Amino acid sequence: MPSSPFSFTSLIGQDKAVKMLTASVYQKKMSHAYLFRGPDGVGKKRTAFAFAAFINCHARQDNTACGSCPSCLKFRSGNHPDLTVIEPDGAFIKISQVRELIKTLAYPPYEAGYRIVLMTEVQAMRREAANSLLKTLEEPPENTVLILTADTAGKILPTIISRCQTIPFFSLPYDQVSKKLVIEHDLEREEALTLAAVAEGSLGLAEELLEKKLLSFRRTLVETLMHSTQEQPESVAAIMELAEASAKYKENLPELLDLLQIWLRDLLFVANGLPERIISKDLLPLLSKAGRRWDKKQLTRKLSLIDQARKQLFRNCNRTLVCEVLFFGLL
Ligand SMILES: [Zn+2]
Repeated sequence: MPSSPFSFTSLIGQDKAVKMLTASVYQKKMSHAYLFRGPDGVGKKRTAFAFAAFINCHARQDNTACGSCPSCLKFRSGNHPDLTVIEPDGAFIKISQVRELIKTLAYPPYEAGYRIVLMTEVQAMRREAANSLLKTLEEPPENTVLILTADTAGKILPTIISRCQTIPFFSLPYDQVSKKLVIEHDLEREEALTLAAVAEGSLGLAEELLEKKLLSFRRTLVETLMHSTQEQPESVAAIMELAEASAKYKENLPELLDLLQIWLRDLLFVANGLPERIISKDLLPLLSKAGRRWDKKQLTRKLSLIDQARKQLFRNCNRTLVCEVLFFGLL
């Protein structure tokens, strides 16, 4: 069943990780603790689910779980008794969650196979929680496999890293991400490619941006910026409104700035007579119109305004205000 998250076939671009994991099972060299490390949204959790099913499958096929044996059916229905998932409670994985886990592990698995513990985002584990997990990581009970996932930005205690086998995960190629977006979300190819580029090869982030309708908001914003001037009172009101709406994107505001940056770079390509290099192909008609409004020098200056806005956001300046100043500068 290709679409099941409990099958390796539902993954894209993580062939190396899958190969390492399946080989460890076939060669009976499975580690008792793995650390899946890589950017957000590239399939670490999906791989963990597929690996859990693979380890316990009674009839593996083509290097993936069969999807139909009693164990696979339990995974697919979401209630396999020997799969425990621990995710941050709020911002952190807390010591109480680790204590609860240790209690559960004192009993043997319910079924004959392996018990799998998936602990996600361990970069968000409090130090005392991490310390209380060390003994379990070093010597987990028999027939238990712990899978930890973490992003590459956060810090993890070296004592955790040294007790796990690290499986690296990488950003996905943009064309693979965009293909998946086209197939699963019925998106136009041009829009899918733009999203994949802004999400820097993270399918998870691309899907999040899609859900938050960032691309269509960008279109409204770009259209307004291109048709407005500072002298029109109605433009001023429209820009203020858009700044307020932009601020609501909060943690995704940097991606909105990325989109604006791509738009201005595309305008520079038009100005330099290189339209084939345009990334926002979904904005093509708009781009050729705007290409006549600003010269190269003005465009370069506008690009530097986006850098400034990025720095201000990083310093926690008021989001609405940062957007207002930026958008008026882009007129
Ligand atoms: Zn199976």
